[in-house]
Amino acid sequence: MNSKIPITDISDATPSKEANKPEVIELYASRKKIYVREIKGFFQRIRNLSLTVLLLMYFGLAWVTVDGNPLIHFDLPARKFTLFGTVFWPQDFTLLAIALIICAFGLFFITSLFGRVWCGYSCPQTVWSFMFMWLEERIEGSRNQRMKLDKQPLSRQKVVKKTLKHISWMLLAFATGLTFVGYFYPIRELTSDLFTLSISSGAAIFWIAFFTLATYINAGWMREQVCLHMCPYARFQSVMFNQDTLIIGYDYNRGEPRGSRSKKAKTDLGDCVDCNVCVQVCPTGIDIRDGLQYECIGCALCVDACDSIMARMNYPKGLIRYASEKELEGKTKQTKLNIRSIGYGLTLAAAMSAFLFALNQRPLVELDVLRDRGSLYQVSGMGMIENNYELKIINKRKVEDQFSVHMSGLEGELNVPDSITVAPGEVRSIPLSIAVDPKNLQNSTEEISLEVRSISDPNTSASSDSRFLGPVNF
Ligand code: SF4
Ligand code: SF4
Repeated sequence: MNSKIPITDISDATPSKEANKPEVIELYASRKKIYVREIKGFFQRIRNLSLTVLLLMYFGLAWVTVDGNPLIHFDLPARKFTLFGTVFWPQDFTLLAIALIICAFGLFFITSLFGRVWCGYSCPQTVWSFMFMWLEERIEGSRNQRMKLDKQPLSRQKVVKKTLKHISWMLLAFATGLTFVGYFYPIRELTSDLFTLSISSGAAIFWIAFFTLATYINAGWMREQVCLHMCPYARFQSVMFNQDTLIIGYDYNRGEPRGSRSKKAKTDLGDCVDCNVCVQVCPTGIDIRDGLQYECIGCALCVDACDSIMARMNYPKGLIRYASEKELEGKTKQTKLNIRSIGYGLTLAAAMSAFLFALNQRPLVELDVLRDRGSLYQVSGMGMIENNYELKIINKRKVEDQFSVHMSGLEGELNVPDSITVAPGEVRSIPLSIAVDPKNLQNSTEEISLEVRSISDPNTSASSDSRFLGPVNF
């Protein structure tokens, strides 16, 4: 066999000046503005429904009260958090820790089965970005009209449209910031204080301004940049993926070779007509035909877009669809539960059971005893040894209650009212003085236990240990 490799002599070739220039690689790529095309379809309808429900909850729940108390209220100065009528205290930290574990494993479980549905349908960044895009479309027009408007020189019409858009964005951002702070500072008082200019809390004004600005910038200007560069979840969610996870994927085998064609023409091409509509509707500006990418937030806009094109061409829908990698490769017909999803599911179930158990076992009354650190003890005129304490009684129940105080471990006299009234969901601090006859003291430090007991229901009680101090030699 006589095969030759063709050789070209380039030794005399003089390199041009351009070729000699060192190549400059920009490490910073400036953002290219994405003009998202509006599309209607099945998944967009589902998202509209989920956005409506979530927004109604966000803007509405802050105003709901039950028996005059907010349904949700994070009262930071009083260190008490009301969630759907149940009051939580810093002492309920275990419950909070379990609740966070439930949220994390809930997210892992859903992601391992259904991919980034959280990002596509319920993440606040998606919800607010879609609302801002909706306003933009209503004011500045369709994708093509917006692109044309941006290229136009400054004109009266351009200034009016841009101003209206930014005013509408700012109003929505302000409503968002005000509502957020309304979960910490009862919203009725907040709005009345704010609009009558009688608000005295500098912190409330600061946080309203902060969240207004953050919403305006994140949803109006940064949009997909938040998902691509700021969200940690986008980076680590791929570890929860496996070949059975539902993703949004392009059916390469069916779509390729792609190419434009007329509707009736006979062709050997695949089903992709290379119309680029799936790219134009993508809020992160990617081409899903290039395969699974971390930029894909799973919004399914490209599914709706491609389905509408397939319907127009009289081709079956689903060239871009929800499918597992195995399905797209033709290895399986349906998505299966895998060992990782089962592990996440079992951990989630265990965490939920632990939460319900801890909630059920949560004491409804708690007692904290603080010794007066200013003095070890006093000797009264009657020769009694006295120690001072502060009792903090926490009534987590929804009814007012009266409590009596008892001591064990030492015989002595308690100087405290016979009945202490504590309102529902309140912490009552009460001073307590204990006087002990020196004859009853065996040591300079005696361990004591104090107990508060409900007068109406003696089974409801709480106790706390402390110490009683006396002179070293008596
Ligand atoms: S919308 Fe569908 S047909 Fe059009 S380019 Fe995308 S994949 Fe191809
Ligand atoms: S590729 Fe499709 S699903 Fe992914 S972000 Fe873009 S439009 Fe949404």
